Amino acid sequence: MSKASFDNSSANNTINPFENALTQLSETAKIIGLDNGLHQILASPKRVLTVSLPVRMDNGEIKVFIGFRSQHNDARGPFKGGIRYHPQVSIDEVKALSMWMTWKCAVANIPYGGGKGGIICDPKNLSAGETERLTRRYAFAIADIIGPHTDIPAPDVYTGGKEMAWIMDTYSMMKGNYVQPEVITGKPIAIGGSLGRNEATGRGLAITVREAAARLKINMKDSTVVVQGFGNAGQFSAQLVEEQGATMIAVSDSKGCVRNRNGISVVKLRKHKEETGSVVNYPGAESISNDELLETDCTILIPAALENQITKQNAGKIKAKIIAEASNGPTTPDADKILFQNQILVIPDILANGGGVTVSYFEWLQNLRREYWTEQEVNNRLDTNITKAFADVYDIHDKNKVDMRKASMILAVNRVVEAIKIRGLWP
Ligand code: NAD
Repeated sequence: MSKASFDNSSANNTINPFENALTQLSETAKIIGLDNGLHQILASPKRVLTVSLPVRMDNGEIKVFIGFRSQHNDARGPFKGGIRYHPQVSIDEVKALSMWMTWKCAVANIPYGGGKGGIICDPKNLSAGETERLTRRYAFAIADIIGPHTDIPAPDVYTGGKEMAWIMDTYSMMKGNYVQPEVITGKPIAIGGSLGRNEATGRGLAITVREAAARLKINMKDSTVVVQGFGNAGQFSAQLVEEQGATMIAVSDSKGCVRNRNGISVVKLRKHKEETGSVVNYPGAESISNDELLETDCTILIPAALENQITKQNAGKIKAKIIAEASNGPTTPDADKILFQNQILVIPDILANGGGVTVSYFEWLQNLRREYWTEQEVNNRLDTNITKAFADVYDIHDKNKVDMRKASMILAVNRVVEAIKIRGLWP
Protein backbone atom coordinates (compact mmCIF):
# COMPACT_ATOMS: atom_id res chain seq x y z
CA MET A 1 0.00 0.00 0.00
CA SER A 2 1.46 3.34 -0.98
CA LYS A 3 1.75 6.27 1.38
CA ALA A 4 -0.43 8.25 -1.02
CA SER A 5 -3.54 6.46 0.19
CA PHE A 6 -3.10 8.18 3.57
CA ASP A 7 -2.59 11.57 1.99
CA ASN A 8 -6.05 12.85 1.23
CA SER A 9 -5.60 16.02 3.22
CA SER A 10 -4.17 19.46 3.47
CA ALA A 11 -2.51 18.27 6.68
CA ASN A 12 0.51 20.36 7.31
CA ASN A 13 2.87 17.66 8.42
CA THR A 14 5.62 20.19 9.01
CA ILE A 15 3.70 21.45 12.06
CA ASN A 16 5.10 19.61 15.05
CA PRO A 17 2.23 18.47 17.32
CA PHE A 18 4.48 18.53 20.39
CA GLU A 19 5.30 22.21 19.69
CA ASN A 20 1.54 22.83 19.55
CA ALA A 21 1.06 21.03 22.86
CA LEU A 22 3.87 23.08 24.47
CA THR A 23 2.38 26.32 23.11
CA GLN A 24 -1.01 25.42 24.60
CA LEU A 25 0.67 24.64 27.94
CA SER A 26 2.68 27.92 27.92
CA GLU A 27 -0.42 29.99 27.15
CA THR A 28 -2.25 28.28 30.03
CA ALA A 29 0.73 28.73 32.35
CA LYS A 30 0.64 32.47 31.67
CA ILE A 31 -3.08 32.75 32.36
CA ILE A 32 -2.96 30.83 35.66
CA GLY A 33 0.45 32.20 36.75
CA LEU A 34 1.98 28.72 36.92
CA ASP A 35 5.20 28.32 38.87
CA ASN A 36 8.16 27.84 36.51
CA GLY A 37 9.28 24.55 38.10
CA LEU A 38 5.81 23.04 37.81
CA HIS A 39 5.66 24.27 34.21
CA GLN A 40 8.92 22.43 33.52
CA ILE A 41 7.56 19.21 35.07
CA LEU A 42 4.52 19.36 32.80
CA ALA A 43 6.46 20.33 29.66
CA SER A 44 8.25 17.00 29.33
CA PRO A 45 6.90 13.46 29.58
CA LYS A 46 8.05 11.48 32.61
CA ARG A 47 9.31 8.68 30.38
CA VAL A 48 9.51 8.03 26.63
CA LEU A 49 10.48 4.56 25.48
CA THR A 50 11.62 3.80 21.93
CA VAL A 51 11.58 0.14 20.91
CA SER A 52 12.92 -1.71 17.91
CA LEU A 53 10.61 -4.50 16.78
CA PRO A 54 11.97 -7.27 14.51
CA VAL A 55 9.12 -9.12 12.80
CA ARG A 56 9.19 -12.17 10.52
CA MET A 57 7.17 -11.12 7.47
CA ASP A 58 5.04 -13.55 5.44
CA ASN A 59 7.71 -13.75 2.72
CA GLY A 60 10.23 -15.03 5.27
CA GLU A 61 12.22 -11.80 5.55
CA ILE A 62 12.84 -9.96 8.82
CA LYS A 63 11.64 -6.36 8.97
CA VAL A 64 12.40 -4.03 11.87
CA PHE A 65 9.69 -1.56 12.95
CA ILE A 66 10.10 1.30 15.40
CA GLY A 67 7.58 1.83 18.20
CA PHE A 68 7.16 4.25 21.09
CA ARG A 69 5.39 4.60 24.41
CA SER A 70 5.28 8.05 26.00
CA GLN A 71 4.19 8.42 29.62
CA HIS A 72 3.52 12.08 30.27
CA ASN A 73 2.22 12.45 33.81
CA ASP A 74 0.77 10.14 36.48
CA ALA A 75 0.13 12.55 39.34
CA ARG A 76 -3.62 11.77 39.29
CA GLY A 77 -3.42 8.04 38.46
CA PRO A 78 -1.90 5.46 36.09
CA PHE A 79 -0.87 6.56 32.59
CA LYS A 80 -3.67 5.97 30.10
CA GLY A 81 -3.78 6.29 26.34
CA GLY A 82 -4.08 4.58 22.99
CA ILE A 83 -1.71 2.85 20.61
CA ARG A 84 -1.60 4.11 17.02
CA TYR A 85 -0.40 2.31 13.88
CA HIS A 86 0.41 4.78 11.09
CA PRO A 87 3.28 5.63 8.72
CA GLN A 88 3.45 9.16 10.15
CA VAL A 89 3.81 8.15 13.81
CA SER A 90 6.77 10.00 15.35
CA ILE A 91 8.24 10.44 18.78
CA ASP A 92 6.96 14.03 18.93
CA GLU A 93 3.48 12.92 17.92
CA VAL A 94 3.24 10.37 20.75
CA LYS A 95 4.72 12.88 23.22
CA ALA A 96 2.06 15.42 22.25
CA LEU A 97 -0.72 12.85 22.36
CA SER A 98 0.40 11.64 25.80
CA MET A 99 0.31 15.22 27.13
CA TRP A 100 -3.18 15.72 25.69
CA MET A 101 -4.25 12.49 27.44
CA THR A 102 -3.13 13.95 30.78
CA TRP A 103 -5.35 16.98 30.18
CA LYS A 104 -8.23 14.90 28.81
CA CYS A 105 -8.36 12.62 31.86
CA ALA A 106 -8.20 15.66 34.14
CA VAL A 107 -11.04 17.44 32.28
CA ALA A 108 -13.16 14.27 32.45
CA ASN A 109 -12.14 14.06 36.12
CA ILE A 110 -11.20 10.39 35.97
CA PRO A 111 -8.23 9.11 38.03
CA TYR A 112 -5.70 8.66 35.26
CA GLY A 113 -2.65 10.40 33.89
CA GLY A 114 -1.62 10.55 30.23
CA GLY A 115 0.22 8.11 27.99
CA LYS A 116 0.32 7.24 24.30
CA GLY A 117 2.03 4.71 22.07
CA GLY A 118 2.53 4.08 18.41
CA ILE A 119 4.33 2.05 15.80
CA ILE A 120 5.62 3.50 12.52
CA CYS A 121 4.00 1.15 10.02
CA ASP A 122 1.50 1.03 7.20
CA PRO A 123 -1.20 -1.18 8.74
CA LYS A 124 -3.11 -1.49 5.46
CA ASN A 125 -0.08 -3.20 3.99
CA LEU A 126 0.34 -5.83 6.74
CA SER A 127 -1.32 -9.26 6.68
CA ALA A 128 -3.28 -10.45 9.72
CA GLY A 129 -0.35 -12.65 10.74
CA GLU A 130 2.18 -9.83 10.37
CA THR A 131 -0.06 -7.49 12.40
CA GLU A 132 -0.35 -10.09 15.17
CA ARG A 133 3.41 -10.73 15.29
CA LEU A 134 4.15 -6.98 15.28
CA THR A 135 1.57 -6.33 18.02
CA ARG A 136 2.82 -9.15 20.26
CA ARG A 137 6.43 -8.03 19.81
CA TYR A 138 5.44 -4.47 20.75
CA ALA A 139 3.53 -5.77 23.80
CA PHE A 140 6.63 -7.74 24.83
CA ALA A 141 8.85 -4.67 24.34
CA ILE A 142 6.72 -2.36 26.50
CA ALA A 143 5.53 -5.00 29.01
CA ASP A 144 7.84 -3.80 31.78
CA ILE A 145 6.46 -0.26 31.79
CA ILE A 146 2.74 -1.02 31.40
CA GLY A 147 0.44 -2.75 33.87
CA PRO A 148 -3.05 -2.59 35.43
CA HIS A 149 -1.91 0.00 38.00
CA THR A 150 0.87 1.74 36.08
CA ASP A 151 -0.06 2.27 32.41
CA ILE A 152 -3.18 0.99 30.70
CA PRO A 153 -3.11 1.22 26.87
CA ALA A 154 -6.15 1.34 24.55
CA PRO A 155 -6.93 1.48 20.81
CA ASP A 156 -6.23 4.49 18.60
CA VAL A 157 -5.87 5.09 14.86
CA TYR A 158 -5.82 1.76 12.95
CA THR A 159 -5.87 -0.40 16.09
CA GLY A 160 -8.91 -2.01 17.70
CA GLY A 161 -10.20 -4.97 19.70
CA LYS A 162 -8.03 -7.54 17.92
CA GLU A 163 -4.79 -5.75 18.77
CA MET A 164 -5.94 -5.14 22.36
CA ALA A 165 -6.69 -8.87 22.75
CA TRP A 166 -3.20 -9.84 21.54
CA ILE A 167 -1.61 -7.32 23.92
CA MET A 168 -3.69 -8.61 26.84
CA ASP A 169 -2.80 -12.20 25.98
CA THR A 170 0.93 -11.50 25.57
CA TYR A 171 1.09 -9.45 28.78
CA SER A 172 -0.92 -12.04 30.76
CA MET A 173 1.34 -14.89 29.60
CA MET A 174 4.49 -12.92 30.39
CA LYS A 175 3.36 -11.75 33.82
CA GLY A 176 2.33 -14.87 35.70
CA ASN A 177 0.26 -16.56 32.99
CA TYR A 178 -3.13 -15.64 34.45
CA VAL A 179 -5.70 -13.46 32.70
CA GLN A 180 -5.24 -9.77 33.42
CA PRO A 181 -7.93 -7.97 31.42
CA GLU A 182 -7.40 -4.76 33.39
CA VAL A 183 -4.02 -4.16 31.69
CA ILE A 184 -5.71 -2.79 28.57
CA THR A 185 -9.08 -1.37 27.49
CA GLY A 186 -11.01 -1.40 24.24
CA LYS A 187 -11.04 -5.23 24.34
CA PRO A 188 -13.67 -7.39 22.63
CA ILE A 189 -16.65 -8.08 24.93
CA ALA A 190 -15.79 -11.82 25.12
CA ILE A 191 -12.58 -11.09 27.07
CA GLY A 192 -13.79 -8.30 29.36
CA GLY A 193 -14.55 -5.40 27.05
CA SER A 194 -17.29 -3.00 28.09
CA LEU A 195 -20.63 -2.66 26.40
CA GLY A 196 -20.81 0.79 24.85
CA ARG A 197 -17.01 1.19 24.43
CA ASN A 198 -17.12 1.03 20.65
CA GLU A 199 -19.50 3.99 20.36
CA ALA A 200 -18.15 5.82 23.43
CA THR A 201 -16.03 8.48 21.72
CA GLY A 202 -18.83 9.36 19.31
CA ARG A 203 -21.42 9.27 22.10
CA GLY A 204 -19.35 11.59 24.28
CA LEU A 205 -18.83 13.94 21.35
CA ALA A 206 -22.57 13.99 20.58
CA ILE A 207 -23.26 14.87 24.22
CA THR A 208 -20.86 17.85 24.03
CA VAL A 209 -22.51 18.97 20.76
CA ARG A 210 -25.95 18.72 22.41
CA GLU A 211 -24.74 20.86 25.33
CA ALA A 212 -23.05 23.41 23.05
CA ALA A 213 -26.12 23.70 20.82
CA ALA A 214 -28.29 24.31 23.88
CA ARG A 215 -25.95 27.11 25.12
CA LEU A 216 -25.84 28.72 21.63
CA LYS A 217 -29.60 28.21 21.13
CA ILE A 218 -29.04 26.16 17.98
CA ASN A 219 -31.83 23.79 17.00
CA MET A 220 -30.27 20.42 16.13
CA LYS A 221 -33.11 19.67 13.71
CA ASP A 222 -32.05 22.61 11.52
CA SER A 223 -28.34 21.74 11.79
CA THR A 224 -26.01 20.34 9.15
CA VAL A 225 -22.87 18.32 9.87
CA VAL A 226 -19.58 17.77 8.06
CA VAL A 227 -17.33 14.91 9.19
CA GLN A 228 -13.67 14.53 8.24
CA GLY A 229 -12.66 10.87 8.75
CA PHE A 230 -15.34 8.15 8.76
CA GLY A 231 -13.57 5.73 11.13
CA ASN A 232 -14.60 4.72 14.63
CA ALA A 233 -14.79 8.21 16.17
CA GLY A 234 -16.21 9.87 13.03
CA GLN A 235 -18.89 7.28 12.28
CA PHE A 236 -20.40 7.12 15.73
CA SER A 237 -20.16 10.90 16.19
CA ALA A 238 -22.05 11.32 12.92
CA GLN A 239 -24.64 8.70 13.80
CA LEU A 240 -25.38 10.07 17.27
CA VAL A 241 -25.51 13.70 16.14
CA GLU A 242 -27.86 12.56 13.35
CA GLU A 243 -30.03 10.89 16.00
CA GLN A 244 -30.40 14.34 17.61
CA GLY A 245 -31.96 15.54 14.35
CA ALA A 246 -28.99 16.99 12.45
CA THR A 247 -28.24 16.15 8.78
CA MET A 248 -24.78 15.07 7.60
CA ILE A 249 -23.98 16.78 4.28
CA ALA A 250 -20.29 15.99 3.66
CA VAL A 251 -17.83 13.34 4.81
CA SER A 252 -14.39 11.96 3.99
CA ASP A 253 -11.96 9.15 4.61
CA SER A 254 -8.36 8.54 3.56
CA LYS A 255 -9.48 7.87 -0.03
CA GLY A 256 -11.57 10.99 -0.69
CA CYS A 257 -14.38 13.36 0.24
CA VAL A 258 -18.07 13.41 -0.79
CA ARG A 259 -20.86 15.98 -0.37
CA ASN A 260 -24.62 16.07 -0.86
CA ARG A 261 -26.31 19.18 0.51
CA ASN A 262 -29.61 17.27 0.66
CA GLY A 263 -28.14 14.89 3.20
CA ILE A 264 -26.11 11.68 3.47
CA SER A 265 -27.57 8.90 5.64
CA VAL A 266 -24.97 7.65 8.12
CA VAL A 267 -26.37 4.11 8.11
CA LYS A 268 -26.42 3.90 4.29
CA LEU A 269 -22.94 5.38 4.06
CA ARG A 270 -21.61 2.82 6.56
CA LYS A 271 -23.04 0.03 4.39
CA HIS A 272 -21.49 1.62 1.27
CA LYS A 273 -18.12 1.83 3.03
CA GLU A 274 -18.37 -1.80 4.16
CA GLU A 275 -19.11 -2.89 0.61
CA THR A 276 -16.62 -0.70 -1.29
CA GLY A 277 -13.95 0.05 1.31
CA SER A 278 -14.48 3.82 1.16
CA VAL A 279 -16.98 6.70 1.32
CA VAL A 280 -15.94 7.60 -2.26
CA ASN A 281 -18.60 7.14 -4.99
CA TYR A 282 -21.48 7.28 -2.50
CA PRO A 283 -24.58 7.44 -4.73
CA GLY A 284 -25.92 10.96 -5.33
CA ALA A 285 -22.94 12.72 -3.76
CA GLU A 286 -20.39 14.95 -5.52
CA SER A 287 -16.69 14.38 -5.07
CA ILE A 288 -14.89 17.35 -3.42
CA SER A 289 -11.42 18.20 -2.12
CA ASN A 290 -10.41 18.14 1.53
CA ASP A 291 -10.27 21.97 1.56
CA GLU A 292 -13.79 22.18 0.14
CA LEU A 293 -14.96 19.71 2.77
CA LEU A 294 -13.60 21.74 5.69
CA GLU A 295 -14.88 25.02 4.23
CA THR A 296 -18.40 23.72 3.51
CA ASP A 297 -21.18 25.92 4.89
CA CYS A 298 -22.55 23.88 7.83
CA THR A 299 -23.55 24.14 11.50
CA ILE A 300 -21.22 21.54 12.99
CA LEU A 301 -17.80 20.48 11.71
CA ILE A 302 -16.35 17.27 13.17
CA PRO A 303 -12.67 16.63 12.41
CA ALA A 304 -12.18 12.92 13.11
CA ALA A 305 -8.98 12.00 11.24
CA LEU A 306 -5.51 13.33 12.03
CA GLU A 307 -3.70 16.40 13.43
CA ASN A 308 -3.19 19.87 11.94
CA GLN A 309 -6.22 19.98 9.66
CA ILE A 310 -7.38 23.47 10.66
CA THR A 311 -4.49 25.87 10.33
CA LYS A 312 -4.02 29.63 9.92
CA GLN A 313 -4.31 29.01 6.14
CA ASN A 314 -7.90 27.74 6.23
CA ALA A 315 -9.30 28.80 9.65
CA GLY A 316 -10.64 32.10 8.26
CA LYS A 317 -12.63 30.22 5.62
CA ILE A 318 -14.45 27.88 7.99
CA LYS A 319 -18.18 28.60 8.13
CA ALA A 320 -19.30 26.14 10.83
CA LYS A 321 -20.76 27.54 14.08
CA ILE A 322 -19.44 24.67 16.19
CA ILE A 323 -16.27 22.62 15.66
CA ALA A 324 -16.34 19.44 17.74
CA GLU A 325 -12.92 17.79 17.70
CA ALA A 326 -13.25 14.00 17.59
CA SER A 327 -9.61 13.67 16.52
CA ASN A 328 -6.70 14.74 18.67
CA GLY A 329 -4.93 17.98 17.76
CA PRO A 330 -6.80 18.86 14.54
CA THR A 331 -6.52 22.63 15.15
CA THR A 332 -3.27 24.57 15.45
CA PRO A 333 -2.85 27.36 18.07
CA ASP A 334 -2.77 30.03 15.30
CA ALA A 335 -6.04 28.72 13.91
CA ASP A 336 -7.62 28.76 17.39
CA LYS A 337 -7.11 32.53 17.58
CA ILE A 338 -8.83 33.08 14.21
CA LEU A 339 -11.76 30.80 15.10
CA PHE A 340 -12.24 32.59 18.44
CA GLN A 341 -12.26 36.00 16.70
CA ASN A 342 -14.85 34.64 14.26
CA GLN A 343 -16.99 33.45 17.21
CA ILE A 344 -16.84 29.80 16.21
CA LEU A 345 -17.23 27.63 19.30
CA VAL A 346 -14.50 24.99 19.29
CA ILE A 347 -15.21 22.05 21.59
CA PRO A 348 -11.60 20.96 22.03
CA ASP A 349 -10.39 17.37 21.67
CA ILE A 350 -9.61 17.05 25.37
CA LEU A 351 -13.29 17.63 26.11
CA ALA A 352 -15.09 16.50 22.94
CA ASN A 353 -13.47 13.08 22.56
CA GLY A 354 -13.16 12.30 26.30
CA GLY A 355 -16.03 9.79 26.03
CA GLY A 356 -13.61 7.13 24.79
CA VAL A 357 -11.30 7.28 27.78
CA THR A 358 -14.24 7.67 30.16
CA VAL A 359 -15.75 4.36 29.04
CA SER A 360 -12.24 2.86 29.04
CA TYR A 361 -12.17 3.83 32.71
CA PHE A 362 -15.56 2.09 33.18
CA GLU A 363 -14.16 -1.00 31.43
CA TRP A 364 -11.14 -1.01 33.77
CA LEU A 365 -13.38 -0.65 36.83
CA GLN A 366 -15.55 -3.57 35.65
CA ASN A 367 -12.43 -5.69 35.06
CA LEU A 368 -10.91 -4.89 38.46
CA ARG A 369 -14.19 -5.78 40.19
CA ARG A 370 -14.99 -8.67 37.80
CA GLU A 371 -18.33 -6.98 37.11
CA TYR A 372 -20.40 -6.48 33.96
CA TRP A 373 -22.50 -3.34 33.57
CA THR A 374 -25.43 -3.03 31.19
CA GLU A 375 -25.08 -0.80 28.14
CA GLN A 376 -27.70 1.53 29.60
CA GLU A 377 -25.69 1.88 32.81
CA VAL A 378 -22.52 2.66 30.84
CA ASN A 379 -24.31 5.23 28.65
CA ASN A 380 -26.03 6.91 31.61
CA ARG A 381 -22.79 7.24 33.56
CA LEU A 382 -21.06 8.57 30.44
CA ASP A 383 -23.75 11.18 29.92
CA THR A 384 -23.48 12.33 33.55
CA ASN A 385 -19.66 12.60 33.36
CA ILE A 386 -19.44 14.38 30.01
CA THR A 387 -22.32 16.77 30.76
CA LYS A 388 -20.53 17.77 33.97
CA ALA A 389 -17.17 18.16 32.19
CA PHE A 390 -18.80 20.35 29.53
CA ALA A 391 -20.46 22.53 32.17
CA ASP A 392 -17.18 22.91 34.12
CA VAL A 393 -15.36 24.02 30.96
CA TYR A 394 -18.15 26.25 29.66
CA ASP A 395 -18.31 28.13 32.99
CA ILE A 396 -14.59 28.95 32.81
CA HIS A 397 -14.98 29.97 29.12
CA ASP A 398 -17.92 32.21 30.01
CA LYS A 399 -16.43 33.83 33.12
CA ASN A 400 -12.92 34.38 31.77
CA LYS A 401 -13.87 35.19 28.15
CA VAL A 402 -11.36 32.65 26.85
CA ASP A 403 -11.91 30.03 24.15
CA MET A 404 -13.05 26.55 25.16
CA ARG A 405 -9.58 25.04 24.66
CA LYS A 406 -8.00 27.53 27.06
CA ALA A 407 -10.89 26.94 29.47
CA SER A 408 -10.32 23.15 29.30
CA MET A 409 -6.58 23.65 29.75
CA ILE A 410 -7.09 25.92 32.78
CA LEU A 411 -9.32 23.27 34.37
CA ALA A 412 -6.97 20.39 33.50
CA VAL A 413 -3.66 22.01 34.41
CA ASN A 414 -5.06 23.25 37.73
CA ARG A 415 -6.28 19.73 38.60
CA VAL A 416 -2.94 18.10 37.69
CA VAL A 417 -0.91 20.77 39.49
CA GLU A 418 -3.04 20.35 42.60
CA ALA A 419 -2.25 16.61 42.59
CA ILE A 420 1.50 17.23 42.09
CA LYS A 421 1.57 19.76 44.92
CA ILE A 422 -0.35 17.53 47.35
CA ARG A 423 1.84 14.51 46.58
CA GLY A 424 5.05 16.57 46.72
CA LEU A 425 8.43 15.72 45.22
CA TRP A 426 10.32 12.58 46.19
CA PRO A 427 13.09 12.46 47.29
P1 NAD B 1 -9.92 4.98 12.80
O1 NAD B 1 -8.70 4.31 12.31
O2 NAD B 1 -11.10 4.15 13.17
O3 NAD B 1 -10.43 6.03 11.72
C1 NAD B 1 -9.64 6.99 11.13
C2 NAD B 1 -10.39 7.46 9.90
O4 NAD B 1 -9.74 8.58 9.35
C3 NAD B 1 -10.48 6.40 8.79
O5 NAD B 1 -11.77 6.38 8.25
C4 NAD B 1 -9.50 6.91 7.73
O6 NAD B 1 -9.88 6.53 6.43
C5 NAD B 1 -9.64 8.40 7.95
N1 NAD B 1 -8.51 9.16 7.46
C6 NAD B 1 -7.18 8.91 7.55
N2 NAD B 1 -6.47 9.88 6.96
C7 NAD B 1 -7.38 10.76 6.50
C8 NAD B 1 -7.29 11.96 5.80
N3 NAD B 1 -6.10 12.45 5.51
N4 NAD B 1 -8.44 12.61 5.47
C9 NAD B 1 -9.65 12.12 5.79
N5 NAD B 1 -9.80 10.98 6.47
C10 NAD B 1 -8.67 10.32 6.80
O7 NAD B 1 -9.43 5.91 14.00
P2 NAD B 1 -10.31 6.56 15.14
O8 NAD B 1 -10.21 5.70 16.34
O9 NAD B 1 -11.64 6.94 14.62
O10 NAD B 1 -9.45 7.87 15.44
C11 NAD B 1 -9.61 9.08 14.71
C12 NAD B 1 -9.15 10.22 15.58
O11 NAD B 1 -9.93 10.23 16.76
C13 NAD B 1 -7.69 10.13 16.04
O12 NAD B 1 -7.16 11.43 16.16
C14 NAD B 1 -7.81 9.53 17.41
O13 NAD B 1 -6.70 9.85 18.22
C15 NAD B 1 -9.07 10.19 17.88
N6 NAD B 1 -9.72 9.50 18.99
C16 NAD B 1 -10.24 8.26 18.85
C17 NAD B 1 -10.83 7.65 19.94
C18 NAD B 1 -11.47 6.30 19.84
O14 NAD B 1 -12.00 5.83 20.86
N7 NAD B 1 -11.52 5.68 18.69
C19 NAD B 1 -10.86 8.30 21.18
C20 NAD B 1 -10.33 9.58 21.28
C21 NAD B 1 -9.76 10.16 20.18
